Amino acid sequence: MASITLNNIVKKYDDGFPAVNDVSLDIADGEFVILVGPSGCGKSTLLRMIVGLEDITSGELQIDGQRMNEAAPKDRNLAMVFQNYALYPHLTVYENIAFPLRLAKGKGSDQEIDAKVQQAAKLLELQEHLDRKPANLSGGQRQRVAMGRAIVREADAFLFDEPLSNLDAKLRGQMRAEIAQLQRRLGVTSVYVTHDQTEAMTLGDRVAVLKKGELQQVASPRELYEQP
Ligand code: ADP
Ligand code: ADP
Repeated sequence: MASITLNNIVKKYDDGFPAVNDVSLDIADGEFVILVGPSGCGKSTLLRMIVGLEDITSGELQIDGQRMNEAAPKDRNLAMVFQNYALYPHLTVYENIAFPLRLAKGKGSDQEIDAKVQQAAKLLELQEHLDRKPANLSGGQRQRVAMGRAIVREADAFLFDEPLSNLDAKLRGQMRAEIAQLQRRLGVTSVYVTHDQTEAMTLGDRVAVLKKGELQQVASPRELYEQP
């Protein structure tokens, strides 16, 4: 687990217009922060800079107090959960979850990997589906497999990029509750990007509101509700 600190972060793409403009935010170890705002306000750009998929134009990113602007994605130990799940269709649920461990050298023996996969599967109630392929799973189950993969990596933080936006309303409600519960149980630092007001107001400890690349407000859901 880790704290994430953004100090005056700016992102300018080639057109020179700031997609993210002077954003500062302290995310505490174990905290669940929701990044909300309309399409095009810079949410994905900010998330991609944190994970290292996009260069930071100016400002500083720190993870546990260490400058990380120049660190490669693999050296940041952050796990991203995408909206399209990014599962491997030809691999079983078990192998999808085990994948990051098989890839990483020194992540343990088959036995150790098995223990981690089984533990994650239990947490996510996927034990009965371990031999199935993603195509034979529901949207919610696929989402859980994607989270399983993040869990076994023992990442310092989870970064969610609109993970529920492809699901129907009923499943979205169900998964919302699951994600909130899971995040609390794991206590892992999480940043969750959404344009959905309900998700923003029900999921996290704090809500950061972005508008045209600028941070308008950071408050708890309760404080936001109580605003005139
Ligand atoms: P959101 O995730 O909130 O929808 P984005 O971070 O995707 O917003 O986009 C923020 C702004 O940056 C938008 O104006 C978008 O057009 C622009 N943008 C995003 N990605 C690129 C890119 N690769 N090149 C140029 N402009 C981009
Ligand atoms: P390459 O282009 O050499 O494959 P990348 O920089 O794309 O390398 O990724 C290197 C490592 O960084 C990957 O093995 C993966 O563990 C990690 N990584 C890449 N993208 C992400 C992401 N979106 N979320 C979390 N980790 C990532």
